[in-house]
Amino acid sequence: MTQSSEKIWLSSPHMSGNEMKYIDEAFAHNHVFPLGPNVNGLENDIKAFTGAANCTCLASGTSAIHLALILLGVERGDEVLCSSFTFSASANPIVYQGAIPVFIDSETATWNMSPELLETAIKDRLSKGKKPKAIILVHLYGMPAQLDKLMQIAEKYEIPVIEDAAESVGSTFDGRHTGTFGEMGIFSFNGNKIITTSGGGALVSAKEEYCRKALFLATQARDSAPHYQHSHIGYNYRMSNICAGIGRGQMEVISQRISKRRENYFFYREHLGGIEGITFQSEPSDRYFSNHWLTTLLIDPAKTGGISRENIRLAFEKPGIETRPLWKAMHLQPVFAQYPAYTDGTAEHMFDIGLCLPSSSNITDEERQRVVDEMKNLMTK
Ligand SMILES: *Cc1c(COP(=O)(O)O)cnc(C)c1O
Repeated sequence: MTQSSEKIWLSSPHMSGNEMKYIDEAFAHNHVFPLGPNVNGLENDIKAFTGAANCTCLASGTSAIHLALILLGVERGDEVLCSSFTFSASANPIVYQGAIPVFIDSETATWNMSPELLETAIKDRLSKGKKPKAIILVHLYGMPAQLDKLMQIAEKYEIPVIEDAAESVGSTFDGRHTGTFGEMGIFSFNGNKIITTSGGGALVSAKEEYCRKALFLATQARDSAPHYQHSHIGYNYRMSNICAGIGRGQMEVISQRISKRRENYFFYREHLGGIEGITFQSEPSDRYFSNHWLTTLLIDPAKTGGISRENIRLAFEKPGIETRPLWKAMHLQPVFAQYPAYTDGTAEHMFDIGLCLPSSSNITDEERQRVVDEMKNLMTK
């Protein structure tokens, strides 16, 4: 195979080379279990990087959201407001608890939860006699949501916020890291995210109590006793010390990974931004700093001479360039169709016309150029 015919991935793992050092240490001391020096070390690395006061590393971002809901007392029949334009893992844990997701559509500036629709939803739920127990707020593709307005509404109605910062590790709003605004924040280190532990996640909070309780629940809720004594239902959600070793190697280079993802974004925007009908998800002002985990754009067929995102996705498949439609909103998913939703068509429209471009931090200059050339080729036909 020649270099130019190799598959270009949407978002692939990118090792620093130091991961094995931490894994070897774990093997040398037989620390092959879901606790240990790498887990503690990774928690400290995350705290130092994000400014979060407390951190508990877990098996996944999904398990972190699940524990956050449990810690806020979300139970059967409770309502939880949730961004609709997201990956299903933001909403699934609401249903694990037997609670009811109430979906909120996006605004067009950041593509994240609309403050107006959030307030409309809260007022309407209150008028129906039910106060939502929590808000799950997503920062999509790394772009911080309108945190000033959203947090103000959450505070006004005294509803705690869980920030789903799975895609936005290292993104900031007014210089403060996403994940540290809400009552709790969660990160994901799945294989496709900006850094990875192969699979893993973390819960962060300003409140020590939340992270301590998350650790307790994540390790089967053992009471302090010489025997196995339980007064709560527990979970096996702790991160493995081997996976955490990968994470420690990744945290050494996280700033470089963010720089490269941003560089990808600016490269694509420079070369494709001028094409009629193409618009990029962009930081609305300098208050926003996106890690640009994925470069995402909208392709308006009304302005491209009829070329749709699906035309582009399929045309890219042949030469082995992986692209993907934007997330299909949760209120449009068959599994969530029965739940309440406050929508205005924004996420639905973005799904119809939006595409994610290859955005790995280990993409080569040559591969990135191929993506640009293919796109220009298609758009000027
Ligand atoms: C990846 C992702 C999650 C889930 O994280 P896992 O570590 O894969 O469980 C949750 N929310 C969003 C928005 C994600 O992209």
